[in-house]
Amino acid sequence: MTAMRYETRFCTHCATPLAPITLLEDSGEKERLRCAACGWTHWNNPAPVLAAIVEVDGRVLLARNALWPPKMFALITGFMEAGESPEEGITREVKEETNLDALSVTLVGAYEFIRMNQVIIAYHVRAEGEVRLSPELVDHRFYELDKLKCWPAGTGYALADWLRTRGHEPVFFTAEENAERRRGLD
Ligand SMILES: [Zn+2]
Repeated sequence: MTAMRYETRFCTHCATPLAPITLLEDSGEKERLRCAACGWTHWNNPAPVLAAIVEVDGRVLLARNALWPPKMFALITGFMEAGESPEEGITREVKEETNLDALSVTLVGAYEFIRMNQVIIAYHVRAEGEVRLSPELVDHRFYELDKLKCWPAGTGYALADWLRTRGHEPVFFTAEENAERRRGLD
């Protein structure tokens, strides 16, 4: 998934520039970006992002996005498409990004990603097949469960929660290790 954000500045219905307008909502008076011409409100709700802990023959696949620093490996992620269930969406993303076929899809949990205005829905995906990465991924590694290290962000907490269900107390990167891992990204 390519991290890309757009700022909404115009009404998506009539193209009038949006302005901060206060209206009475269920929770009280609330200022939001709204359209003075047609009344459209930019709710700015978080977008759901699907994430997969992909397990093949007892090992977990982590992959590196082409835009990421060399030491950064993480879960397979992607946005839902209109008209699909989350389970269908993560099955599709795993196929598109790794060529692996899902054998089972099990919910791990939902996690905040406030910085990106997203909510992460994480799944454990048992999969099979031959790995062929999509162009947006440049590398992948398979990890034994006791070799996995978690990172202090939504998908890392999902991985930690899942490891606990498999009897492994998760180990997190230290602050220095995480800074090294993210070097070049911030
Ligand atoms: Zn409008």
